[in-house]
Formats: sequence, C-alpha cells, structure tokens
Amino acid sequence: PLPVLAVVGRPNVGKSTLVNRIIGRREAVVEDRPGVTRDRVAYEADWNGRRFKVVDTGGWEQDVLGIDASVAAQAEFAIEAADAVVFVVDATVGATDTDEAVVKLLRRAGKPVVLAANKVDGPSGEADAYALWNLGLGEPYPVSSLHGRGTGDLLDAIIEVL
Ligand code: GDP
Ligand code: MG
Repeated sequence: PLPVLAVVGRPNVGKSTLVNRIIGRREAVVEDRPGVTRDRVAYEADWNGRRFKVVDTGGWEQDVLGIDASVAAQAEFAIEAADAVVFVVDATVGATDTDEAVVKLLRRAGKPVVLAANKVDGPSGEADAYALWNLGLGEPYPVSSLHGRGTGDLLDAIIEVL
C-alpha cells in the first residue's frame, strides 16, 4: 500500500488548494466513510517518482460541533490513518488557538509533521512564515498553494519523512 499523507488545518487556510497543487491533474479517488467524516477524499500523487496518497480533510459539518471541536475531530481521524501529516497554517493570519489545539494533537500522535506556512504569495510574506517557528513544529515551509511558490521545497520535505 502507498504511504498516506494527511493534510490538516483550520477551515480556509488553503488545504484543498494545496492538495490540488500536490496532485496536479491526477484523478481523484473518493472514499466514503460514516461518522464524523462525512467523506474523506484520498488522491494519488507522486513527487520525483515517489508515489503516495494524499488525504484532504474538511468539508464536514463544522457548525454541528463548533469550529474548534470539529477541526480537532477531523484532524484526529486523519492523523490516525496517516503515515505523515502536513499541517497547514495561514501565515497571513498567524497561529490561532485552534492551530495550537491541533499542534497538541500532532504531538500526541507522534507522526512526522511538515509545517506549511500558506498564503506566502511573495517575499514580503516570509516574515509571517518565520513567526510560525513559535509553534514548535520545526521549520515552517513558506508556500503559496495558489501560485505554487515554495511547494517544491515543501514536497521535498514531505518525501523525506513519508
Ligand atoms: P481549506 O478550507 O483549508 O481547504 O481552504 P481552500 O483551499 O478552500 O482555500 C480557502 C481560500 O484561500 C480560497 O479562496 C483559496 O483561493 C485561498 N487560498 C488558498 N491558498 C492560497 C494562497 O497560497 N494564497 C492566497 N492568497 N490565497 C490562497
Ligand atoms: Mg478544503
């Protein structure tokens, strides 16, 4: 079986945009699961010949549980099933309490984590990314999932831990 990469983070930080960037034009495989995960979407991807599955999270009923509990529940599910995790933070917003809650989950899970500082669309955003060292997850990789900036370096880091 292919190694599984989970993409987790708060709503609207750009997880799905990053997933699309990672998979390029590949076809989606949809897996329906009951429970909190109304649907979990796994795609096949490869980077430099290394094949893996990438699982997008989100798109679930956030207002049922409230944002914090929902993000935590989704992240917990996805992390459990993953070999490695990309934690996506909106660098233009910075780390929120919800982000900190996900960091705790990630620590507990003990899986390898790569921190994506998203929405760094240009050089002026690099300082925002640098501030995310404070999360204690190691090097924040500044990326613009929208424009593709930095995603190669992020993928190199992912492949190293996957
Ligand atoms: P998700 O809820 O975490 O899956 O976030 P989405 O991928 O749906 O993106 C939420 C919004 O952020 C959309 O309007 C995206 O176009 C925007 N977005 C995602 N990545 C970037 C980025 O790198 N830069 C900018 N400026 N916007 C982004
Ligand atoms: Mg999404």
